[in-house]
Amino acid sequence: MQEPKNFFIRTYGCQMNELDTEIMVGQLEKRGLKRTQDEELADLLIFNTCSIRDLAERKVMGKLGQLGRPKSRKSIIGVTGCMAMAKKETLFRKLPHVNFVLGTNNISDLNNVLDEVLETGRQTIKTDDQFEENLDYLIAKRDDTVKAYVSIIRGCDKFCTYCVVPYTRGQEVSRPPLSIEEECRRLASEGYKEITLLGQNVNSYGKDKPEWNCLFHDLLYRLDKIPGIERIRFMTSHPVDITLDLMQAIRDLPSVCEFVHFPIQAGSNRILKKMHRLYTVEKYLEKVSLLKETVPNVSLGTDIIVGFPTETEEEFQQTYDIFKQIRYSVGFIFSYSARKGTPAFRWVDDIPEEVKQERLQRLLSLQQEICVEERQDMLGSVVEVLVEKRKTQEIHLKGRSRCWKNVAFGGDESLIGTLQKVKVHSYSNQTLIGDLVTTTETSPLILL
Ligand code: SF4
Repeated sequence: MQEPKNFFIRTYGCQMNELDTEIMVGQLEKRGLKRTQDEELADLLIFNTCSIRDLAERKVMGKLGQLGRPKSRKSIIGVTGCMAMAKKETLFRKLPHVNFVLGTNNISDLNNVLDEVLETGRQTIKTDDQFEENLDYLIAKRDDTVKAYVSIIRGCDKFCTYCVVPYTRGQEVSRPPLSIEEECRRLASEGYKEITLLGQNVNSYGKDKPEWNCLFHDLLYRLDKIPGIERIRFMTSHPVDITLDLMQAIRDLPSVCEFVHFPIQAGSNRILKKMHRLYTVEKYLEKVSLLKETVPNVSLGTDIIVGFPTETEEEFQQTYDIFKQIRYSVGFIFSYSARKGTPAFRWVDDIPEEVKQERLQRLLSLQQEICVEERQDMLGSVVEVLVEKRKTQEIHLKGRSRCWKNVAFGGDESLIGTLQKVKVHSYSNQTLIGDLVTTTETSPLILL
């Protein structure tokens, strides 16, 4: 096999996968390969996969199957990400044309694995169960110039009964605070204004390394001091680990945005117990009240699964009522799909698909109603926007408010990468539309 000249990489799934792709792109470019967006031209094809839902897996398996058809080009094919961890060697049996499988904990081994494939011509696999903190994050090649993802903790110790993550990403491993600070300083010096701290459960940060004396809120205090970083976001969180210290950090640190992903998953205590979520609805609501008291202008996001095994109509209604009560600004709502290797996989998936879909649609309609009301309430107000881009052919610049709302407005491209105030006059779907507020205007009400 010959050293490839160029590569194509496709990412499926979450932000952690997007970041891992950026790191792999940096590694391959350092090796001298060029990235191409044209899959047909690539000598090396990498699929950075996701296992969180059955549909995501089926899509990738279909795609990989097509590449094995006899007429296809003879490129080197690698599978990385959560599906690589979940399926391991079985991928070679199902897809004999795949050359290497690289697990989520082995991103740093990409070039070694590629060398081995080139030298031996054999199928090669590396899928360690545990992440070793030896990754060169600074090599990441980012597409975005304003916002960047920064990994702070990998893996998850919570073992929710429906979730593959503890099996595909292993135990929690926090990244040393100095390494995170170094990367954030570098990003600031390159002109990045916003960082999103990533982890399957960022609120667990530092608990596996008590000797560091640096929990998640401590890390926020350290990162807030870095000049040039205007905004800090984080995702995702487990409600059990959201502490008063963290809430106070959100309130007190100017760069930390007032948006908290606070995933409830279900509104019934019986279902929460079956999910092994470690809180009751009452405890969850208590924390939400404390957060709203501490950070009055906070916006909340959630994840919800409908149609979990044995969920009754009444229990679904409890989830619906809590969504209505809390009025989440952002909801990632899915119908349950059983994932192999999880405890829930052994249970009968007894909610008929049409019932799941009907519950899903009801919740999505409620979310849409809340979204419209929220945007109507914002007409005439002023939001602070970090200007991110202008898409080709579009007249509007685009960015997000501190509370993660999309905002579009007319303006010059020189504003990209700056914070601007925009007065909202209308909205379209999920996007607020407005005009730049000039410095001579009297300052109207500022919303986040
Ligand atoms: S906390 Fe999140 S990542 Fe961890 S097991 Fe539960 S759903 Fe999965």
